[in-house]
Amino acid sequence: MEKLLEVKNVKKSFYRGNKLVDAVNGISFSIEKGECVAIVGESGSGKSTVARMITNLTTVDSGKIILDGIDITNAKGKKLVSIYRKIQMVFQMPVSSFNPRLTLGESIMENLVNKGLTRESARNKMLNLLEICGLKKEYSKRYPHQVSGGECQRAAIARAISINPELIILDEATSALDVTVQAQIVDLLMKLKKETGISYIFICHDIALVQNICDRIIVMRNGEIEEEGITSDVIKNPNNDYTKMLIDSVL
Ligand code: ADP
Ligand code: MG
Repeated sequence: MEKLLEVKNVKKSFYRGNKLVDAVNGISFSIEKGECVAIVGESGSGKSTVARMITNLTTVDSGKIILDGIDITNAKGKKLVSIYRKIQMVFQMPVSSFNPRLTLGESIMENLVNKGLTRESARNKMLNLLEICGLKKEYSKRYPHQVSGGECQRAAIARAISINPELIILDEATSALDVTVQAQIVDLLMKLKKETGISYIFICHDIALVQNICDRIIVMRNGEIEEEGITSDVIKNPNNDYTKMLIDSVL
């Protein structure tokens, strides 16, 4: 297997009042090409901060993030643009990740036109992406507030895959959806993985949801990695009480 992403001893702290508190306290892990890795842990354990540091939405205090062998820690300018060609992020609230003044179709096309496609071919590709993600053509003309949460999340995934990224980070991307829609979105992600060899970081507080879809699990607590391993091993044989508690609370 080939390494796609390496997170090396990465730290981040935030001021709470006038006290500096560690959100992520020197963690290291890596993601192979084509791998789906879950990051699980209770609320406040630092999962989103890790995702935001990888995608440069939050600066890194210390440590390194390496993508395809290139140091992307606190990248700026052209380097940052090239990161977003390789990594896309999907959030819990898809509606707020779309420009409210653009239709879903226009938002997806914008990504493609920026990448150099003509409007005509961007339009065709956009309609095809919506179809792949289970949305009929007419959804291209709807505004973000005119669709359900599940439909908007499908459009967000269509936009994320439009530029053929190597990695998609999904931060609680299915947590706000009802169970049936959640299962459909997960099926879609797994189908894409099989067809394209894309990697995912699937951030979630629900171990039950990740157990069938992720190759590996990283368990976070208080900004640290509590344990890490092959999904079935961790679920069958958690090596600490915290992981056991996370498993027992949902299974
Ligand atoms: P999770 O995604 O696992 O729920 P987060 O990464 O969002 O956890 O948060 C980890 C810790 O960092 C929490 O204590 C949170 O309050 C704090 N934190 C996150 N972002 C900020 C911020 N921008 N400013 C201050 N504190 C933050
Ligand atoms: Mg979070």
